[in-house]
Amino acid sequence: MEYKSHKVPVKKSIALVAHDNKKDELISWAMRHKEELVNHELFATGTTGALLERHLGLPIHKFISGPLGGDQQIGALISESKLDLLVFFWDPFESQPHDPDVKALLRIAAVWNIPVACNESSADFVFSSPMMKASHERRIPDYDSYLRSRSF
Ligand code: PGA
Repeated sequence: MEYKSHKVPVKKSIALVAHDNKKDELISWAMRHKEELVNHELFATGTTGALLERHLGLPIHKFISGPLGGDQQIGALISESKLDLLVFFWDPFESQPHDPDVKALLRIAAVWNIPVACNESSADFVFSSPMMKASHERRIPDYDSYLRSRSF
């Protein structure tokens, strides 16, 4: 796979997702980081987004609920380089009806090299990075050269 550089702007597009048992944790984390979150464009799966909007009072682009396809909608935007960061508090103690979608979302985030915070402390680390307040370059798969390299 060839790679190329993708410029991530100062104002980032951030996706937020929490499984049901993790929603309270995500909300209290987001309240602590509201001053930083306000500087970015926020996206979330349906229920997580509705809760965050209510508690933060910030506008959130809401996808459909996760079990109904919201995780896949987020994955689609990641593969179009339209999301820069994923905060995904998944539940390590309970299997989900949409486990394949959860796995697919984590995989596609790895493919497109976006930062993923899966719990409160990793989200704190990511949000304390100087990169949150700066533009930076991210290495991503070069799909054009991938196509050129294939012999059809
Ligand atoms: P929800 O989806 O925000 O609609 O609950 C989260 C998920 O389970 O992926």
